Amino acid sequence: MTQYTIETPPVTALPVAGQDAVFPVRRIYCIGRNYAAHAIEMGHDPDREDPFFFQKNPNNLDTSGSFPYPPHTSDVHHEAEMLVALKTGGTNIPVEKALDHVFGYGLALDMTRRDLQGIAKKAGRPWEIGKAFERSAPCGPIHPVSEVGHPSEGHLEFKVNGEVRQEGDLNQMIWKVPEMISYLSEYFELAPGDVILSGTPSGVGPVSKGDTMELSIDGLGTLTVTVT
Ligand code: MN
Repeated sequence: MTQYTIETPPVTALPVAGQDAVFPVRRIYCIGRNYAAHAIEMGHDPDREDPFFFQKNPNNLDTSGSFPYPPHTSDVHHEAEMLVALKTGGTNIPVEKALDHVFGYGLALDMTRRDLQGIAKKAGRPWEIGKAFERSAPCGPIHPVSEVGHPSEGHLEFKVNGEVRQEGDLNQMIWKVPEMISYLSEYFELAPGDVILSGTPSGVGPVSKGDTMELSIDGLGTLTVTVT
């Protein structure tokens, strides 16, 4: 048995709706600008160019229901997204086979220090400082495919303190879930435990301490998170 020199870091695992077993997370891939209206609001061309991805860290996921306002920012934005959890992986996965690799779907927020991301973009630097900070990915339980199928359409609604801020439909994704999986698998070796945040519709904006954020997607329930 392997002896570790220090205490082994805990495995981040997400609850699974209706099951006792939890879903261990290996990597998080996040797609950028996957809804045309959001690409436009961020000042970009909504044409279908190649997708691009960035990563958060597995332990940025948080199911506590609270989001601590992070340091070194005064402009933290919400991005409401559907999470896709993979049970198997591989390379060069064809689009037609991609959904066979999905374990389930859930709700997640890609919280963003927009001011720091903006500085990084301008300087041509990586985005981690704006995206991959502590507890930057509040999320809910995973709903297994056996329960919810593969949602390719469904209303997405995100509210702050009861007021609708983001609205869209899963069918508005520029790159659909099977295409994202296939594309990623050409560049990376996907593996069990990988999750994908599938992008956000338009309406992103700032939150403040004390705000209650509420995301729902048809068939996937509701995620409620308080900014603390
Ligand atoms: Mn995002």
